[in-house]
Amino acid sequence: MNGKCKTGPSPPAVDFRNVGLRYQSPEGETEALKGLSFTVNEGEFLVLLGPSGCGKTTVLSLIAGLIKPSEGEIRIGGEILTEEKRPHIGYMFQPDELLPWARVIDNVLLGCRIRKEDDRAHRERAAALLDEYGLGDFKESFPRSLSGGMRQRAALIRTLATDPSLLLLDEPFSALDYQTRIRVSEDIASIIKREGKTAVMVTHDISEALSLADRILVLSSRPASVKRELHVEIDGRGVIQRRASPLFADYFNLIWKELDDENAS
Ligand code: ADP
Ligand code: MG
Repeated sequence: MNGKCKTGPSPPAVDFRNVGLRYQSPEGETEALKGLSFTVNEGEFLVLLGPSGCGKTTVLSLIAGLIKPSEGEIRIGGEILTEEKRPHIGYMFQPDELLPWARVIDNVLLGCRIRKEDDRAHRERAAALLDEYGLGDFKESFPRSLSGGMRQRAALIRTLATDPSLLLLDEPFSALDYQTRIRVSEDIASIIKREGKTAVMVTHDISEALSLADRILVLSSRPASVKRELHVEIDGRGVIQRRASPLFADYFNLIWKELDDENAS
């Protein structure tokens, strides 16, 4: 080996190096992130867990290239993020982001249309995803005839239809009632795994983080930095299996204490 061999491990999907972000507004400056460093591996489901207002949505906006860091460096797939080079991401927020007046298939193709990729290949991919995930009979229906869970699934299929390299999820289940939330999050997580996508989800909900994550980064209150890293090693992939595991409570208490200390300090 001469040290120039290029076949090393692939670079992380996301790499934050000492990232700081300050918002300027007429009321003054808000320091949202300070010295934030972390990586997301290819194919991983990473959850950033932190209290409301700590800077979680800010992190996702930075990954998407919608805002620029005040300090530090962000690499996506090994390349420094610049305004010219934004990653191809799929973004999922709250449920019910479907357009009520558009048919399911047109809702699903919306992202492709915005990207000017409304070609045959993408239409076929969208239709195949709807078939694959049980919405094939609803392509021509309007969102109102779908259950909440089905609407959320259609919203995920819309983000998958453009075949993004990275999925960003911003508390996507927080508006759902408890039982629906468990069912829908199980559903969404299994689709993401099956499609082999790298995902970064942010949430303030400990149980949700533990139900879905391969790895959790516990964030401090604002300005956010990483307080603790946890590899979630609970047998069984499913949300319900995980919640039933005795380890679930152990992890929960550990994180609870971490966040509680944070509030007390
Ligand atoms: P979270 O998603 O964890 O609730 P955010 O990333 O939305 O937190 O916000 C972090 C902090 O930055 C908050 O104090 C918020 O008020 C502030 N903030 C967010 N966006 C802006 C903005 N565009 N201008 C000024 N302050 C902002
Ligand atoms: Mg937020």
